[in-house]
Amino acid sequence: MQPWLLSSQQIFSDQYGRDILPHAILLNGVTGSGKSEFVQWLLHLLSCQQPQQIINNEVTFLQHCGVCKTCLLMQSNTYPDHLSLIAEKNNLGG
Ligand SMILES: [Zn+2]
Repeated sequence: MQPWLLSSQQIFSDQYGRDILPHAILLNGVTGSGKSEFVQWLLHLLSCQQPQQIINNEVTFLQHCGVCKTCLLMQSNTYPDHLSLIAEKNNLGG
């Protein structure tokens, strides 16, 4: 994870732990900013059955366990509730 995303990981982890994570999240940023990596982290966290608490550079956040059934399905790209879509256009609508 890009170091500048650690604070976002901490904020989202806190919201997830307190069950106040927004129902929809729109991420925006320049190419190479780590958006895809951040989305993968969040997707794995939300899918994991037993997230683990991690401390990195004095920042505490949650991380998927990597060993539960859902994590194993996610790692093998066979998790049935996950579908990645790639936009054909760079705008919404029309
Ligand atoms: Zn897991």
